[in-house]
Amino acid sequence: MKKDMKKIYRKLILCLSMLLYITTGCNKTKEKIVQQEEYMLGTFIQAKVYDSNKTKAKKSLEKAFKRVEEIEERFSVNIPTSEISQINKNAGIAPTKVDEEVIYLLRKSTYYSKLSQGAFDPTIGNLVQLWGIGTDHAQIPDDESLQKALSIVNFNDLIINEEKSVVSLAKKGQRLDLGAIAKGYAADEMKKNLIEEGVRTAFLNLGGNVLTIGSKPDGSSWKVGIQNPFTTRGNYIGILEVRDQAIVSSGNYERYFEEEGKRYHHILDPRTGYPSNNGIISTTIITNQSIDADALSTAVYVMGLEKGLALINSLADTEAVFITNEKKVYITSGLEEKFHLTNGEFTCEKR
Ligand code: FAD
Ligand code: MG
Repeated sequence: MKKDMKKIYRKLILCLSMLLYITTGCNKTKEKIVQQEEYMLGTFIQAKVYDSNKTKAKKSLEKAFKRVEEIEERFSVNIPTSEISQINKNAGIAPTKVDEEVIYLLRKSTYYSKLSQGAFDPTIGNLVQLWGIGTDHAQIPDDESLQKALSIVNFNDLIINEEKSVVSLAKKGQRLDLGAIAKGYAADEMKKNLIEEGVRTAFLNLGGNVLTIGSKPDGSSWKVGIQNPFTTRGNYIGILEVRDQAIVSSGNYERYFEEEGKRYHHILDPRTGYPSNNGIISTTIITNQSIDADALSTAVYVMGLEKGLALINSLADTEAVFITNEKKVYITSGLEEKFHLTNGEFTCEKR
């Protein structure tokens, strides 16, 4: 009997020490959060990496932010030496030799221009400059200047020669602006760099363009708030549950100015030259790549509810949330289980 007790006791000790080993082992490998925040692309970029190796996580973040720096230098219209500024300078004069990633982004832009029948148009640059929304010289343009700028907005005038790696704009004065798509591309490139460095769990937010890598460290979905367009940043109308996806919003609350009680925001309708005014005040796209979500969020904002929903419902693995100025929320069918309305002032309908 005594012998048996000893055996049991020994086994118990063994089990306890194994348990201790497992729990301390877990503590050692427990994922830590490493965060970095930078002001780039005219916005705040926040990145959180969850990894057991802090040094590796820090290095991977540094590399990812370095990549954004390169993208800004290549695509910014505010940097005179950028390749986009060069294309703009050469508009109607000569083709411009560009890097293959410029070709990639411009091809994507043309694709979404066609898909949205011109609601998304990367040749909108002159109109963006004329309105100056988000700058200290924002203003309602005079009609003559507006019509002049509008007359040279045409994505068909963007000519891409992939073989020779050259790009041209057909008419003098035409001006590209990739503000509605390049931030999405930057997010995808950050993700690509982090994955290359072995990161498996991360949360990126490039001024409203959210991109997640994997699921939360505990295996559950990430919970992303959908901004209440009637209030300032940080107020949500609902929560989206996502894993390994991009969530990109466009809204009239991001960049705007007000004059005589009217709001003039930065998403312009290429048909009128004025801020889009069709009852939609916020659109959110959920899909795999941020570049696609970014272009689509702007495109469907301008297309409006019916046409925008029809477009999203025609695309694979793409979901959307539309919010109207009457506080109505419309979600696509794939979000039924993933979107939770939390603000009682709004109503939600599946379409
Ligand atoms: P989105 O809906 O994704 O895009 C709206 C923007 O796209 C508008 O601001 C306009 O630029 C353009 N646009 C408007 N209407 C249309 C349309 N119908 N079709 C296509 N495009 C349209 N901001 C600064 O203040 N300072 C900077 O130095 C600066 N540098 C930047 C550099 C780069 C490379 C990029 C990509 C952006 C930069 N920005 C800068 C812009 C800033 O980050 C914008 O707020 C952002 O691009 C707009 O994104 P959004 O998600 O708010 O809206
Ligand atoms: Mg966009």
